[in-house]
Amino acid sequence: MLIERGVSLREFNTSGLPAQAERLVRVASEADVRAVVDHPKLGREPKFVLGGGSNIVLTRDVQPLVVKVEVAGLRLLEARADAVIVEAGAGESWHGLVEWTLAQGLPGLENLAAIPGTVGAAPVQNIGAYGVELQERFESLTAVDLMTGRSVTLSREMCRFGYRDSVFKQALAGKSVITRVRLRLPRPWRPVLGYLELERRCAETGIEQPDARQVFDWVCAIRRAKLPDPAQVGNAGSFFKNPVVSEVQCRDIIGRDPSVVHYPLPDGSVKLAAGWLIDACGWKGKSVGRAGVYEKQALVLVNRGGAIGAEVLTLARAIQESVYGRFGIRLEPEPVML
Ligand SMILES: Cc1cc2nc3c(=O)[nH]c(=O)nc-3n(C[C@H](O)[C@H](O)[C@H](O)COP(=O)(O)OP(=O)(O)OC[C@H]3O[C@@H](n4cnc5c(N)ncnc54)[C@H](O)[C@@H]3O)c2cc1C
Repeated sequence: MLIERGVSLREFNTSGLPAQAERLVRVASEADVRAVVDHPKLGREPKFVLGGGSNIVLTRDVQPLVVKVEVAGLRLLEARADAVIVEAGAGESWHGLVEWTLAQGLPGLENLAAIPGTVGAAPVQNIGAYGVELQERFESLTAVDLMTGRSVTLSREMCRFGYRDSVFKQALAGKSVITRVRLRLPRPWRPVLGYLELERRCAETGIEQPDARQVFDWVCAIRRAKLPDPAQVGNAGSFFKNPVVSEVQCRDIIGRDPSVVHYPLPDGSVKLAAGWLIDACGWKGKSVGRAGVYEKQALVLVNRGGAIGAEVLTLARAIQESVYGRFGIRLEPEPVML
């Protein structure tokens, strides 16, 4: 096992924040993870599992052993009457997997196109976009326990998926390495077009029944227009979760700000658009030091060049304070802070 020392993580996080990993090991299989767990010195030490670094904020050098997941492989596992099951190694690029399934004539993941990061991290926060969440396409996953080195299979129920949440952010946080993910692509395929911007594309183009490739192209184009490309402008995507409030609280906010963007949920609660709340507080385009709020989408905090994690944190806290001051709502960060 090769232990790399003093590794710069700037290239390993999409925000381009500077930090060093004291030690880093790359794992390309379950056996590699077991070798780390069984290592006489490293076995008991704290670890941080790293995928593509698109959902982390590095505020300092990382002391725990960084376990960089590089498990490869894409394969068709099973074709049933009601669904096709595919399996991907946790180190594969998520977008690469979406492209591969489409190239195989296996639609179902197109709404989740162009989300940065790895396959292994997708279940951690139950990635979602344009009307589809990972849990709706999830079959099972393999993970290796970082205490025992044992491989386990987790079903959808065991993953306890929620809005940008799963057991890997709760009871199992930092305790296991996801090595393989199996996805269930339902048959027959039906496009998911409920999201406003996709409905608009259908209306504009006159295409009422787009195929999966068309939906994929639309999603990629919408995302390109709205979100900064991390290769050009460092960022970690949406910085805050959309807060969920009670109907009473929502009515109170509507009374004061009738244009608040909100989505009623089946259980009677209401989801508010965090980007709208931040924009309403005047943050769009503003900066604190070298960290800023993206001009086209107030939910995204960007590295304007040479920012350090502390600047991003200071900006995030200032935003949280002003949103709390005006709306009485505490915004919760989406990325993992390190
Ligand atoms: C421009 C941009 C747009 C984005 N858009 C979306 C979006 O539309 N929807 C959405 O849901 N997210 C979005 N994100 C967030 C991010 O892409 C996802 O959360 C992604 O799944 C993170 O993958 P990663 O490999 O980069 O994870 P990392 O940032 O490396 O890690 C994130 C967390 O997962 C853990 N982790 C990573 N890999 C493993 C593993 N194999 N086993 C166990 N734990 C692991 C890490 O320890 C950490 O806690 C966006 C980000 C960016 C930069």
